This record gives sequence, C-alpha cells and structure tokens, in this order.
Amino acid sequence: MKAIYVTQHGGPEVLTYTDRPDPVPGADQVLVEVLYAGVNYIDTYFRSGSYAQELPYIPGTEGCGRVIHDPAAEIAEGTLIAWHDAPGSYAEKVCVARNRLVAVPENIEPAVAASMLLQGMTAHYLLHGTRDTAPGDTMVVTAGAGGVGLILTQMAASLGAVVYSVTSTDEKEKLAYDAGASAVFRYGDFPESVKRANGGKGVDVVYDGVGKATFAQALDVCRPRGLVCSFGSASGDVEPFSIQELNKHGSLFVTRPSLGAYVATDDEYRKRAQAVVRAVEDGTVRLRVHEPFPLADARVAHEDLQARRTSGSVVLRVSGTA
Ligand code: NDP
Repeated sequence: MKAIYVTQHGGPEVLTYTDRPDPVPGADQVLVEVLYAGVNYIDTYFRSGSYAQELPYIPGTEGCGRVIHDPAAEIAEGTLIAWHDAPGSYAEKVCVARNRLVAVPENIEPAVAASMLLQGMTAHYLLHGTRDTAPGDTMVVTAGAGGVGLILTQMAASLGAVVYSVTSTDEKEKLAYDAGASAVFRYGDFPESVKRANGGKGVDVVYDGVGKATFAQALDVCRPRGLVCSFGSASGDVEPFSIQELNKHGSLFVTRPSLGAYVATDDEYRKRAQAVVRAVEDGTVRLRVHEPFPLADARVAHEDLQARRTSGSVVLRVSGTA
C-alpha cells in the first residue's frame, strides 16, 4: 500500500510518500480502506519529536474509510466508519481498534467524518469536562478559526455562551463570526479589547491552543477565580511560570488537559463521539474542511498548517471520494 513514512524526526520534509506492507488486523481490530485521513496539530509534535514517538512510523491517528476485513466477522465489508486513535492513518489501509470506531451516517461526507472526531471530542470535553458550560458564560478562544477553534465556537454558541475569538487575518475573522463568535480580535492587545467588550471584567474561561505566545495574555484576560485551559502549543510550549502568578491574577485555575484523559474509558469515548456525530448531523456544527491535500502531499499539509495558512479542519485524500 501507499503510505507516509517517517524514519527520522524533523520538519515536514521527513514525511515520505512510499510503499509499505499492508497492516494485519488483530482480533480486536478491523482492517479499513482509508478514504480521508485527518491532519491535526498533534501530528506535527510527533513528527518533530517534541512528543515522544518511536521511529520509524506512519503518522496520523484519525480518518474515515470502509471496512475491508473484520476478523470477528461482526462488521460488514464496506461499512463506512470514522475513528480517532488508530496510529498509521496516513496510509491506504489501517487497523482500527473495535472500541475506537464510529459508524458514519450516510448524510455526513467522508472528508467531514475524517476530521470530526479528534477536534470535535476535544471541543466537547473542553465545554463539558474541564468545566460545565452554562448559558451566558464568557470565554476567549485563541486560534478561533482553526480546526478545534471553529468547532468549539459553534458548540459554545449553541449552549448560549459568549465567545470572544482571536484570529490572525480578516478571512479567519469572518469564519469565526460565521461560527457564532460575539466579537473577534487580533492577537496584539486582545485582553484589553475583550475587557472593553465585556464591561471591564475578564472572562470565565480561556481556551488557548496557541500556548507560548499567548499564555501570559490568557492569564490577563481571565476573571478572578476563572479557568485558563491551556490545551495546545501551536506557537511552542508554555514556559515554566511561578504559581504566584495565579494568586496575582485573582486566584485563577489553570489546566493543561489532553483528549486521552477525557476519553479514557470506552463509555466516555462513545458518549463524546456520539455527541459529535449528532452535532454534525443536526447542523449544530458545520465542519469546515480546508481543501483536501492528496496523501502524497502530506508534507505540504503540515507546512501549511504550521505556517497558519489553513483554516478549519485539514484532511488528506487517500483512496477516493466516497
Ligand atoms: P489549528 O487548525 O488551530 O491550527 C493552529 C492555529 O494556531 C493556526 O491556524 C493559527 O491560527 C494558530 N497559531 C497561533 N500562533 C501560531 C504559531 N506561532 N504557529 C502556528 N500556528 C499558530 O490546529 P488544530 O485545530 O489541529 O489544533 C489547535 C490546537 O489545539 C493545537 O495547539 C493542538 O495541539 C491543540 N489540541 C489539543 C488537544 C488536547 O486534547 N489537548 C486536542 C486537539 C488539539 P491564527 O492564524 O488564527 O493564529
């Protein structure tokens, strides 16, 4: 099969398009023909080596495709499924653990299904896990037009929250407004702009996937006793800081959560995945998929993602279109 293969850590150039042997499913897995593979920021951390990753490996953990073979003969050949947490998804075939696959309703496009689970379940646990969102809650979402950002904004707005989005360009600003943001600001002085917009108060919660470049501002824009959710490092890892900063800013809470901890049991995985599928099906979340990159161009997909040239979710087109 064709696959992306990585033999050394580094920049996007280490993503090599090549031939690899077909994977063989274990008893608790099904073999899938991949239609689209999701591309996520975390894939760049594994590629660069900033997150531990043994070499060599095939990147990617999520996608959408059709079942080719189920060793347990429970799932019919041709069944359309999506998954998160199947290492090796940047390939024509991948083995997906039975407890990580999700049936895809026919009215959800495969490219959408391929990118809805990781980012959708992240948005879900941020709003219903790190804290419980109530109508009228105020929040800041950085990288508001990114994959997680647009889904998070739509889910939060549907719950009646007031979302202040932070983006870098006019085009991304429009996408954030379309997703339901109450106001959209640029990075420079966003804490002041947000406070001006909400009567001088800080917000109840900050969802920050940018990390190093915005963490200090995240503390500044949060109200006393509010929560800073530092859930990503698109600009680099947050520097070590003194716990006294939380005191100075008015008894803040800070968490650095991961999706894995919020879908640790099969039950929690299933509930969050089903909530995402429902939200996509009923239109609560209109997933924006950036123009798909061919599998062979995974390198370009990573370059564009890291150069802030993408908006919404990013996918690789692998084996077709249906
Ligand atoms: P995005 O589509 O949001 O892409 C990253 C965005 O970050 C860019 O488009 C850009 O938007 C913004 N950004 C700001 N500064 C930089 C910078 N210096 N370099 C690159 N990008 C920058 O990616 P994802 O939706 O895949 O992920 C968003 C964040 O969420 C990532 O940090 C990711 O690691 C994290 N994440 C965390 C999870 C968890 O459970 N903890 C799960 C899933 C994702 P703009 O141009 O508007 O600034």
